[in-house]
Amino acid sequence: MAEYLLLGVLKNCSEFKHKYNEICHYLVKKNIVTIEQINDLSSQNKAYDSLNLNTFKHTELVSFGSYGVVFKSKHKIDKKYYALKMLSHNKKTLLEVRTLSRLKHPNIIRYFHSWSQYSLPKSIKNDIANDKEIVLHHPIQNYKKYLFIQMEYCTKTLREWLLNRTYPPTERDIIGQILRGINYLHRKGIVHMDIKAENIFLKGCVVKIGDFGLSNKKRKNIKKDIYALGILFFEILYPMKTEMERVMILQNVKNGIFPMNFSLEYKEKIEKMLSVNSQRLIKK
Ligand code: ATP
Ligand code: MG
Repeated sequence: MAEYLLLGVLKNCSEFKHKYNEICHYLVKKNIVTIEQINDLSSQNKAYDSLNLNTFKHTELVSFGSYGVVFKSKHKIDKKYYALKMLSHNKKTLLEVRTLSRLKHPNIIRYFHSWSQYSLPKSIKNDIANDKEIVLHHPIQNYKKYLFIQMEYCTKTLREWLLNRTYPPTERDIIGQILRGINYLHRKGIVHMDIKAENIFLKGCVVKIGDFGLSNKKRKNIKKDIYALGILFFEILYPMKTEMERVMILQNVKNGIFPMNFSLEYKEKIEKMLSVNSQRLIKK
């Protein structure tokens, strides 16, 4: 049974396609699988093929996040670029997919599709690369299962925008759009929990909130989102030149000390947002 499953894995790995018939022949000869099973697998795979990575051209690695790898990939048929996020397949990452897939708002990253896929153990990859006889006795547990999320591709993160501030959009536009996105999330009872400039994207002038890896439905956590928004809005409204300056000024802001030249009107609003979290801490 395990070998049969592995065969399914091999069938879906473009790098082994050219060896597929040879492997099938070997497995039938050794009485590991029957010809009927192989035919059955082929028909199942016709449907699966349209979902797997063969649908995309892997063009560029965009980033190594803490949890996953993100690619910018071109769809072979519609010729559009998508962001493909590759994560370990587990309860936590499934939750990220389930959350994102239920969201539909102009200021939230658009979800298109998701699927799981196995990667081959190194030993098999080496056998094939060295043109050795393939040894198919690896238990299925050795095959790491990944989860892929296909999302709309955004040209830059808000962090990148903050570095050279190309207008439009203006700072006010950006803040307005972030608020609309967050308001939509909170109305649905979802707390993002990781609001920061690296997790907010720009597609032209449109702002999109992404990375739902830490999101949850605990209403008491809404305060954490508000606090993070307070810090983020300060960063948007007060340009800082170096990373060192940013760390120091933000530390002061977190302690309630704002730069002298920061607009009083905004200061009061941000202070209110930051106090949400400190009230929570005091109550504790
Ligand atoms: P981290 O924990 O570091 O925040 P993560 O592993 O949870 O990261 P994401 O934040 O979703 O993953 O993505 C990591 C990076 O990949 C982003 O900071 C961004 O550079 C890039 N990226 C993610 N999604 C997209 C997208 N839809 N379009 C363009 N780039 C993206
Ligand atoms: Mg992130």
